[in-house]
Amino acid sequence: MASATPVVVIGGGAAGFFAAITCAQLQQRRPVLILEKSRHILAKVRVSGGGRCNVTHACFDVDELVKNYPRGAHELIAPFHRFNPKHTIDWFKAQGVALKTEPDGRMFPVTDNSQTIVDCLTNAAPKYGVTIYPNLGITGITPPQTQNADWLLQTGNNQTIAAYCVLVASGSSTQMWQLLSGLGHTIETPVPSLFTFNIAHPLLHELAGITIPQVAVKVPQTKLQAAGNLLITHWGLSGPAVLRLSAWGARELHNLNYRFNVEINWINHLPAQSVAQLLAQYKSQYAARALQAHALFNLPLRLWKRLASQSGIPENLRWADVSKKQLQQLVSQLTQTVLPVSGKSTFKEEFVTCGGVRLSEVNFKTMESKLFPRLYFAGETLDIDAITGGFNFQAAWTCGRIAGNSMAQQATAGFEPENHF
Ligand SMILES: Cc1cc2nc3c(=O)[nH]c(=O)nc-3n(C[C@H](O)[C@H](O)[C@H](O)COP(=O)(O)OP(=O)(O)OC[C@H]3O[C@@H](n4cnc5c(N)ncnc54)[C@H](O)[C@@H]3O)c2cc1C
Repeated sequence: MASATPVVVIGGGAAGFFAAITCAQLQQRRPVLILEKSRHILAKVRVSGGGRCNVTHACFDVDELVKNYPRGAHELIAPFHRFNPKHTIDWFKAQGVALKTEPDGRMFPVTDNSQTIVDCLTNAAPKYGVTIYPNLGITGITPPQTQNADWLLQTGNNQTIAAYCVLVASGSSTQMWQLLSGLGHTIETPVPSLFTFNIAHPLLHELAGITIPQVAVKVPQTKLQAAGNLLITHWGLSGPAVLRLSAWGARELHNLNYRFNVEINWINHLPAQSVAQLLAQYKSQYAARALQAHALFNLPLRLWKRLASQSGIPENLRWADVSKKQLQQLVSQLTQTVLPVSGKSTFKEEFVTCGGVRLSEVNFKTMESKLFPRLYFAGETLDIDAITGGFNFQAAWTCGRIAGNSMAQQATAGFEPENHF
């Protein structure tokens, strides 16, 4: 008695596991297999969120949620109406995993340990009948030759596996993108997203560790701009404002070879004119006090002193003695500091790839390829990525869930007992 050809998930990451579990939960007619190239399944989940796994984000309005996706915002609207952070929270809760929300909206397991999420998924998979094969990479994909024929998958150890449905959830695998490109799918050129800026400039010397709240940053030669907290690091700038800029500008900044100027307004969007007026007021208000003695605009004192020095204002100069030119320079430093970026560094907490399978070639109602029947996509293999904060996993859960659902329907509908038993 031959068994039905299986549903095969390529890739044992977040998207692959979620899809496989969903598919196995909804139908038992066809086996569901996860084939994972490496020895370790769910490797990225394990290291994610600095070892805590930022599972999702407490954002429950779909219109707001999609604003966090530089690529995929439009395509994710309908999928998020079907499976969004609320459903993610409920799903993990049903598996016995409680999530908590941090003040900035990021959601983590209450254990603060990514192992909780790894354990949850690795326990759920066999419970619903998913079989996992680590160390089994796919090296070739042959589409069905006739309408109801199977997909044929070549493995690294020279096996051929027949599959009724195939889900490609191989993350940012160049090898898989090459295989898909060979089949006729278009791959948007992959480039890194979510990185920090390398800047070697005296202004930042010995200021590492300082966080400045609500800073506006832009790249003057482009239309790129972002706001949020800014972190000065040993090698340059990081923090939400910079990471946002890196995500929205992933492609443009790549094209600039990561060499460009960044312009910083340290006091959010307060325009130069308003700052000039405020400084004129302070000049009379604090006339007898040394300008560098007390920071204004809620700036950290060390940064305030540095900006004042860069404006030519000596340490003990009193407000009363600050010249018009010095004040003008301070206004300019506060609202328009220009620093040269000379490269990028990896943001260790979370990084993703911009690029992947072209979204117009995928049906987002099912996650099925528009080019081939019974070929599905989910996760980072698609040209979808988000800013940091749990949004990348949410896209993986959502697309995985929908793909799993569709494959379950397809697997049942296409089941022909007389052929398989
Ligand atoms: C350090 C780090 C921290 C992160 N932290 C967070 C976070 O806290 N929150 C968040 O939302 N996002 C985070 N991300 C992003 C998030 O991890 C990814 O968006 C997510 O893992 C994508 O899931 P995926 O299943 O699509 O791909 P992956 O997790 O990359 O899984 C793909 C799997 O496919 C396998 N594979 C590849 N090719 C083949 C093949 N030919 N045959 C078989 N298997 C194959 C790979 O080995 C891999 O296991 C982080 C990323 C990194 C790098």
